[in-house]
Amino acid sequence: MPWRSRPLHRPPARPHFYWQGALIILPALLLAAAGFSSLRRDHALATHQALEAGGKIAEEVAQAFWREMMNTGPETSSTGNVVPGTPATPEEDPIFHRSYGTAFLESKEGALLYPRPVAAPSIPLPLELLELTQEQQIAWRTLEEQWKEQTPSASGDGRLRLFLSTNPPPRFAAIATFRCALAAERAGDARVAAALLQGVVTNFPDAQGETGFPLRDFAELRLLSSRTPTELPGLLNALAGRLVTQPNILSASLLANLTTYGGTAERWLRVQEAHERARIFAASFHQRETPGDSFTFQGEEWFVFENAEENPHWVTAFTRSEATHACEGVIHALKLPRHFAVSASLGGTTLLQASADKRELGTARSSYSANMATVPITVRVFLADPDTFYAEQRARTLRFGALIALSAGAVLIGFVAARRAFRNQQQLSEMKTNFVSSVSHELRAPIASVRLMTEELQQGAEPSPQKLRQYHGFIVQECRRLSDLIENVLDFSRREQGREQFEFEPTDLVRLVETTVVWMASYGGEKGVILESVHIGEPEPIEADGRALQRLLVNLIDNAIKHSPNGEKVTVGLEFERRRVFLWVEDRGPGIPLSEHERIFERFYRTGSELRRETPGVGLGLSIVKHLAEVHSGRVLVRSDVGKGSRFTVELPLVPRQPDAANLPATESSLC
Ligand code: ADP
Repeated sequence: MPWRSRPLHRPPARPHFYWQGALIILPALLLAAAGFSSLRRDHALATHQALEAGGKIAEEVAQAFWREMMNTGPETSSTGNVVPGTPATPEEDPIFHRSYGTAFLESKEGALLYPRPVAAPSIPLPLELLELTQEQQIAWRTLEEQWKEQTPSASGDGRLRLFLSTNPPPRFAAIATFRCALAAERAGDARVAAALLQGVVTNFPDAQGETGFPLRDFAELRLLSSRTPTELPGLLNALAGRLVTQPNILSASLLANLTTYGGTAERWLRVQEAHERARIFAASFHQRETPGDSFTFQGEEWFVFENAEENPHWVTAFTRSEATHACEGVIHALKLPRHFAVSASLGGTTLLQASADKRELGTARSSYSANMATVPITVRVFLADPDTFYAEQRARTLRFGALIALSAGAVLIGFVAARRAFRNQQQLSEMKTNFVSSVSHELRAPIASVRLMTEELQQGAEPSPQKLRQYHGFIVQECRRLSDLIENVLDFSRREQGREQFEFEPTDLVRLVETTVVWMASYGGEKGVILESVHIGEPEPIEADGRALQRLLVNLIDNAIKHSPNGEKVTVGLEFERRRVFLWVEDRGPGIPLSEHERIFERFYRTGSELRRETPGVGLGLSIVKHLAEVHSGRVLVRSDVGKGSRFTVELPLVPRQPDAANLPATESSLC
C-alpha cells in the first residue's frame, strides 16, 4: 500500500467573524425583542388599568350616589328599622336630615309609624263640678272668684294650696294650677306664674285642658318667655320635638309661635313640614293604582324603594330630577378624568346616559340597602376618549421605541464597523503573509543566481573576458535588485516605526531624473526595454529630499520595466509649470484594470495571483511612491488602459506646502 505523506500540523484555520458577530448582534436583538414586547405589554397594562379604574369608579360613583340619596354620610344611619323616638334636635330627625326626597316608616301592613299620624281633633272635655266633693267645690268656687279679680294676689297662692289640699282629681288640680298661673301673668307676677306653670309641667304632664289639648304644651310655651338664654334651647327643643313627633291639629300653629324665640325653632318648623309632606306622600303612595318603583306624585315622577318584607320598614322616595341632580353632583365631586364617561340608572330608569359607542370599562350594579330601603343602582363607566387615555402610553411607546431602534441602529453600525475592521485585519494579515513569502522569493532568486555564477567561476576553466563581463553585469544587476528590495523594506519599516528623516534642500530635478535614467538603463537593457526621458518647460530647482525622490523614481521605473514587453519603450517625463512640476513614467505594458487603480497603492498589495508570481516584487513599491509624494506635499495619479500601458504621474509643488510634514510618520490617507 502506498504511503501518503501527511502534514504534521494543519494550517491554522481561517478566522471567521461568526461568533464575534453573533455576540454583538444577539444581545442587541434580545434586548430589542424584550423592549418591544414590554412596550406591547405596556399597552395591555394600560388597558387593564383602565378596566380596573373603570370598575372602581363605577363602584365609587354608585356608593357615593347612594350615600347622597340617603344622605346618611359614610356611616349608615343608626336609626334602624325601629320607630324613632323624639329627636333631641331637628338634625336628628331621620326624615328631615335627608337632602333629597322623603321617607316614612310603616308596618308590614302599611300602617304609618313615623312620622306619626296627626292625632284626631280632640273632643272638648268640660269640667264637671259634680266630680268634686262639697268641700272641694267650695274651694274651687273661691278660686274662680280669685281668677276674676285680677289683683296682684290673683294667683291666689293660699287658695290654690287650700284647694289642692282637698286632694281634688288631677285634672281639676292641673287646670286650677294653670289658671292660677294665667291670673298671675295677668297680674304681672311673672315669677309666681312661672313657678305655677312649671308645676303643671312637672306634676301633671299628661293632663288635658277643657279643649281636650295637652295642658303641658301650653304651659311650656308660656314658660319659654321666662327662661334664661341657657335654659331656653333645651326647653324649646323638648317642646318642639314633642310637637313634631306627637302631632295634633294645633302643633303647626304652636311651632309657628316658637319661631319668635329663634334658635332651632325655624328648623323644627321645617321638620314639621317634612313630616307633613311624608304623611301626604305616604297616603298617596298607598292609594296608587299601579304598583312599582316609579310613582307620580304632585306632577312629578318619584322613585320609591322599600324593604317590604321587613316589619316595620322604611319607604324611601325621591323625584327623578333630584336623583339626576344628585348623580351629577356626585360625578362632579369625584372629579373624574375627562376620558371617562358615566351612565347611571336607578331601578329600570336611566338618569345619565353616556354615548353608546364607547368602550365599557366597568359596571357597578348594586342594591344598596341599609336600615332604610334597598336602592338598585347601576353605574357604568366608559372610555369616552381613548386618544387622551392612551396618549401617555403612546408617548412612552414612541420614546422607548425610538430608543430601542436607535440602540439597534448603533449596534448594527458597530457590527458593520467591527466586521470591516476584522476583514481589514484579515486582509492585512494575508498580505503580510504574502509579503513574507514574496520577500523570501525575491531574496532567494538573486542570491541563487549570484551563487551559481560565482561557483561556475570558481570551478570552471578560465572564463572568456566577454563571459566575465556578462557575469559581472549579472551580479551587479542582482545586487542592485537586492539592494532596491532591502531599501524598500527598510523604508517601509522606518515609516512604520516613525523613524524616517528627510532633508529638504534645493534639488535639480532634471539632473536627478537624468542620473536615475542612466542608472536604470542597464536594467532596462537587460530586459530589452529602452529607457528615454523628456523635459518640458523651464526647469526650476525644487525644495526636496533628492534621495527620497530618487527612490520614488526608481520604484516607478522599476515597475514600468518589469511590466513592459521586450523591445518596448519606457518614457520618463518631467514637465515644469509655474508652481508645480509633473514627473511621470509611462510604459506600454499590460495596463492596470480600473478597479485596481486605488488598491495598487496599498501596502503589500499586488495584482494577480501570488502563486503564479507573473512579475517579481513584494507589493511595497507604489505605497512608498505614494508616501514619498505626500511627504513632498504632492500626489500620485495613475492613468492606465488594459492592454495599452500605464502612466504614473507624480505632481509636486515647487515649494512643498508643509515642509514639516516631511518629518512626520506617513498617514494611511487614500490616493489623490
Ligand atoms: P510590486 O512589488 O508588486 O511591483 P508595487 O506596489 O510596486 O508592488 O505595485 C503594485 C502592483 O501594481 C503590482 O503588483 C502590479 O501588478 C501593479 N503595477 C505597478 N506598476 C505597474 C505598471 N507600470 N504596469 C502594470 N502594472 C503595474
